[in-house]
Amino acid sequence: MHPLLKKKGFIIDIDGVVGRSTEPIEEGVRGVLKLLDAGKKIVFVSNNSTRSRRILLERLKSFGIPVSEKDIISATHATASFIAKEKRKAKVFTTGEAGLQEELVNAGLTLVDYQDAEYLVVGSNRNLDYNLMTKALRCCLKGVRYIATNPDRIFPSDDGPTPGTGLIIGALYWMTGRMPDVVIGKPSKVIMLEALERLGLGAEDVVVVGDQIEVDVVAGKGIGASTLLVLTGVDKKESLEKASTFPDYVLESLDSLFM
Ligand SMILES: [Mg+2]
Repeated sequence: MHPLLKKKGFIIDIDGVVGRSTEPIEEGVRGVLKLLDAGKKIVFVSNNSTRSRRILLERLKSFGIPVSEKDIISATHATASFIAKEKRKAKVFTTGEAGLQEELVNAGLTLVDYQDAEYLVVGSNRNLDYNLMTKALRCCLKGVRYIATNPDRIFPSDDGPTPGTGLIIGALYWMTGRMPDVVIGKPSKVIMLEALERLGLGAEDVVVVGDQIEVDVVAGKGIGASTLLVLTGVDKKESLEKASTFPDYVLESLDSLFM
């Protein structure tokens, strides 16, 4: 038996582990189902900044994974709750897509244009254009509180790597010298501590599984959990040569835990 199977809880990344966009990663899905069969507690934590929890829930169900909304923590939802806790009904300008906007509105925040914003919320947008970038730039220059949903530079889609939220964070940094005041998604502790709380377990009983060293493995190390890198997503074996943080285990896929 793989030593990680002694642990009680698993914090599992979605993109690059169980799916790529709308396509399931069969080995990843098989692994999740076997973990559930073995009685493990699972919470999915996704840095995806374009999808609401509702969309992620539908996606996991379409992959054949039995989940409910409480089993999913998304960067979009966590970002909205974080801001709502800081300032109720805050006025927010976001670069994000409908999935992020949905969570911001659900949390009681008001979406406004950049001139009226108290917060700049940066999340990925697949229709990013010069106009939206101009607004984000102006909002950033105003000096309002700047929150990023996640720090991912690259996002794994079904036909290859695509720009992550880092596209906008990087551009704003180059133009203004500003980095986000707070980053919510992995490897930030904000989202990881919420995941531990959801599992009701201490970090010593938990494995953090993901496909990116600087996102998932660093997040796992940050809370003191065991870490597993799977090679079904962004990082490949070669990535380990350049890495400054190392996962406790590296496997081809989540299902390899059972081989
Ligand atoms: Mg991933």
